[in-house]
Amino acid sequence: MGYMRGNERGQHILFPSTLDEYIDEENPVRVIAAFVGALDFAELGFVRAAAAETGRPGYDPRLLLGLYIWGHLNKVRSSRKLERECERNLEAMWLLENLRPDFKTIADFRKDNGEPIKQTVVKFRLWCLREGLYGREMVAVDGSKFKAVNNSERNFTRKKLAKVIKREEARVAEYLEAIEAADQAEAREPPPPPPLSGEQLREKLKKLKERLAQHEQLEQTLKKSGESQVSLTDADARLMKTSKGSDVCYNVQTVVDSKHKLIAAYEVTNEGNDLGQLGKMGKQGQEALGVKEVTVLADGGYFDGNTIKECEEAGITTYLPLPHSKATSRGLFAIERFTYDEPRDCYVCPQGESLTFRAKEQANNKEYRIYRTHACGLCPLRAQCTKSQKGRKLRRWVEQAVLERLKERIRGQPELLKERKKLAEHPFGTIKRAMDQGYFLMKGKKKVTTETSLTVLSYNLKRVINIMGVEKMITSMQAATT
Ligand code: SF4
Repeated sequence: MGYMRGNERGQHILFPSTLDEYIDEENPVRVIAAFVGALDFAELGFVRAAAAETGRPGYDPRLLLGLYIWGHLNKVRSSRKLERECERNLEAMWLLENLRPDFKTIADFRKDNGEPIKQTVVKFRLWCLREGLYGREMVAVDGSKFKAVNNSERNFTRKKLAKVIKREEARVAEYLEAIEAADQAEAREPPPPPPLSGEQLREKLKKLKERLAQHEQLEQTLKKSGESQVSLTDADARLMKTSKGSDVCYNVQTVVDSKHKLIAAYEVTNEGNDLGQLGKMGKQGQEALGVKEVTVLADGGYFDGNTIKECEEAGITTYLPLPHSKATSRGLFAIERFTYDEPRDCYVCPQGESLTFRAKEQANNKEYRIYRTHACGLCPLRAQCTKSQKGRKLRRWVEQAVLERLKERIRGQPELLKERKKLAEHPFGTIKRAMDQGYFLMKGKKKVTTETSLTVLSYNLKRVINIMGVEKMITSMQAATT
């Protein structure tokens, strides 16, 4: 048995006569063409939405948007790679009607159309809403770190900068001593060969002093701006904690609808953590889905009493884990061991004593009421309850009822916390692994947001293709334009 044989490379073969014959009916590229064909580019604000009447004809922005969506679905995002695909990939050639824009034209389209591209994501979401693809009842809010175009070596926190300056100052002193020693050695007869001549050392010192001056300048800039860190390559990116340590990233927030795991809203932030984002993202989810009330699932990183209250007031029902009591980690009774007696406004402790209101306290933008008892001194449970000489102190947030209601909700439906994980992590998993888009190619929050818009659009498109199929989508999109 031999191997399968192909055609001889020099042999004449009959290729299909049209590009269309290469693209089968179920090819996703057909959906892209139908989608961009159904958009009103002038209304969306695309540059050159209408062809110029004079001058050299330009590329149709419909084709360039289609190319970017196709690229994001096929792990080809850079303008140079897209240029290459237009010359060799049958899907790209079909989509671009065999036109071959150069990388600059492709890159400029993305640079000049950030906001219209964002609006395109909205248009697709509206189409999905009409098709009933969003459940509009429950969403998960989650954030994930995406690597920025900025090496961590080119990021300086105040602490790191102070360390670098101190080290460089010490090196300057060392060089000055070495130059002195080299000068003395060179003056001796015959001069012993020093490892580096005075001239070479002076040259090195000059470079070191230049670096030191740059770092001192950066330190001044940080002091003036009040920022805690500076990134030299992408000024908007920030050093953040990631699952693999820390890196210079953006924090992308998403709101994912529970029906088909479609992304309803997203935002690129440079906040290092998710604290305080829940209210903002929950409201974006409400607006995107056109609902007054919605259930939002989130992880413990979003826990903040004020934000949960803000959500409640806005019609957003939250489900997120409550933080563990600090007392438990110190081996002491958790606050859950104390029962709050609302009519008497006091806590009853495990020993049966009442901790009554003593004072008010402000912390973390919240007002707390403080409760204590005089009974701790002689209490047999004291070692398990407090390490303080003054006895056990309990703090109750004045809006604690908000958290009591959250606790009740979780007790009623604990499975929703597990549901959150499945829901929110699906889009990020797909985007980062299957679509290879866990890092940005552009610099600056504005451009990075455009990249995210294309990623979200292609993720949602991919999901809907899996749910509805190509033909059904095309029929619906074409019907929407007629
Ligand atoms: S130490 Fe004080 S608060 Fe704690 S159980 Fe004893 S009496 Fe109650």
